[in-house]
Amino acid sequence: MKHTYYYVGIVATLIFIFFNFVACGAQFYKLSLEDDISHELIGSNDPNSEYYGIHTLHGWGANIPMHYQSDPTISQDQLRQIQAGMKTWEFVTGKKLFQYDGVHANTTGDSFPDLYSSLKDQINGNYFDENWNKTGKSDQVLATTIWTNNRDQSLITACDIRYNISKYILGDSLVISSTPDKEVVDLQSLATHELGHLLGLSHVDESYDPNSIMKATVFIGEGLISRKVSALDIARIQKLYGCEGQACDIDALVEKIEYNYEMNHEDFSLISSN
Ligand SMILES: [Zn+2]
Repeated sequence: MKHTYYYVGIVATLIFIFFNFVACGAQFYKLSLEDDISHELIGSNDPNSEYYGIHTLHGWGANIPMHYQSDPTISQDQLRQIQAGMKTWEFVTGKKLFQYDGVHANTTGDSFPDLYSSLKDQINGNYFDENWNKTGKSDQVLATTIWTNNRDQSLITACDIRYNISKYILGDSLVISSTPDKEVVDLQSLATHELGHLLGLSHVDESYDPNSIMKATVFIGEGLISRKVSALDIARIQKLYGCEGQACDIDALVEKIEYNYEMNHEDFSLISSN
């Protein structure tokens, strides 16, 4: 009987994982404030192109570190998890990419009437949306990254990440629990992916780079994390921002990432990025 019970347990777990394999929200929201230019992608959907997986060729350009603010309802733990995602991208470039300017006072995701209006204030925000319906995205969308480009689309000029908290609990999925109404999503995993979009990366095909953080799908649920970036993710982000010091040795970086993942689930605050 015990053996049978175990078998049923495995099946249930597989079904659980299957149903939690959902599309990521930040599909491809490419915005331009100029109506008179081509909306063709600067990057390419061809894996043989050197621009594959890149939506804005020079990212934030000289405007790094890019300044950002957070939703005033964010907890210290949630902020730390988003910043852990930022540290990942900083670790693999050796550069300071992000500068925190505190909370955006009195402004949550619900303060905006729709999805794109949050870009108008020129504040780069990480917002939580309890009223997700008004973004026009389905409940399966975990978060969405929106941005504006300059005229020739070579630079990102403003960006917001909107997180869906109407159906999901965003936090450390190794620690927190789901409720009957809301599923746990690992915030560091989700933020690392969304921050990839924020920096200029688009999705890559799973068959091309199975370990990429920029795959368009993610596992969610208690105990499920995907916080690592792949060697090809590193190569792509370095096309946009270059590298400094030890970050230029991608093979060594990947080894450190694997080691740190085993030890700390990628808490990059514990390793030097000098
Ligand atoms: Zn995405």
